[in-house]
Amino acid sequence: MSRARGERGAGARHAGSLLPDPDRIPVTAPTHHLSGGGFRNPWPQASDPERGPSAFFQWQLERLRDGDRPAPPPPADALPLAASEVAYPRSAAGELRVTWVGHSTLLVQIDGWNVLTDPVWSERASPVQWLGPRRLVPPGLAWEALPDIDAVVISHDHYDHLDRDTVRRLHARFGPRLHWFAPLGFTAWFADQGIPGVRELDWWELARVNGPPDGAPLQLVATPAQHWSRRSPLERRRDRLWCGWVIQAGDTRLFFAGDTGFFPEFPEIAARCGPFQAVALPIGAYAPRWFMQPAHMDPYEAVRAYTELGAAGRFLPIHWGTFRLTDEPVLEPPRILRQAWTEAALPQAHLAVLRHGETAVLPPGSE
Ligand code: ZN
Ligand code: ZN
Repeated sequence: MSRARGERGAGARHAGSLLPDPDRIPVTAPTHHLSGGGFRNPWPQASDPERGPSAFFQWQLERLRDGDRPAPPPPADALPLAASEVAYPRSAAGELRVTWVGHSTLLVQIDGWNVLTDPVWSERASPVQWLGPRRLVPPGLAWEALPDIDAVVISHDHYDHLDRDTVRRLHARFGPRLHWFAPLGFTAWFADQGIPGVRELDWWELARVNGPPDGAPLQLVATPAQHWSRRSPLERRRDRLWCGWVIQAGDTRLFFAGDTGFFPEFPEIAARCGPFQAVALPIGAYAPRWFMQPAHMDPYEAVRAYTELGAAGRFLPIHWGTFRLTDEPVLEPPRILRQAWTEAALPQAHLAVLRHGETAVLPPGSE
């Protein structure tokens, strides 16, 4: 791979107007920072995505009153595992392979780099393994089948995205050669797991990992998201930031949205960091809408986000079918997604509803 190719990164493409420092994309105003520490969603229309105790109580009351919520689990054979097409040890130059392990866990093999998003291999998305949302399906990729991982990106601190046991197992297996990336506020948590070198990024900051693979460096940009954070009622609210990630190597780019409600900066993400060969957007955990809407998009909003991101590349739905977190039936999100996709008259070939374990394979130069 030529050096010139490696320099056409998320940063270099916009070097003229946006990048005084090649490692940073400046934030116009850090309005998501609170003066006393912690973070907020800066958009005027964003109500507080962390609903207070009274809203939570009202939701639980409705569940009791209506009796059948959350919807019953799907039949055991409704979510079959697919055979993965992971590239060992790595993907080819310019190639993108994305394997859906489940929920928001993706193995992103991009231009020779192996990256994991929000890795969860545990049985439950919970602080304890004897209580809390349990997997409906095993991880789509067995732990032993993981190739050597170069980098892990974390979107936020909720238990279905930041799993202590999985983080510790990854660290035990790959040690210091594994690069960890998170939004601001995660250093102490990672230090508690024995991981000293987590790289924290603010929204729009860019980090770069050079070799060992020949060719382009791996580039990661933390992007805005509309969400919230906290792992226990004992912690201060929103002390750790939340984000999405642009994962890029050479000319190949994937956008991973993390958890987010619909917010107005998708066009900005595409303008600064796109175009994307693949876009992984959450489509589940949306019901009831009156409660979940600020923090989680529904499939119609996810399709609108895809359109605002430039309506380019493969749409890979995540955050469904793995843990039952909210009230919608488990199999409903992809069904509504297909409906929304058809109504928007988007090309069917660009919608890739992966089964657990399935790999989207995008050869070099894919649109
Ligand atoms: Zn979350
Ligand atoms: Zn989540």
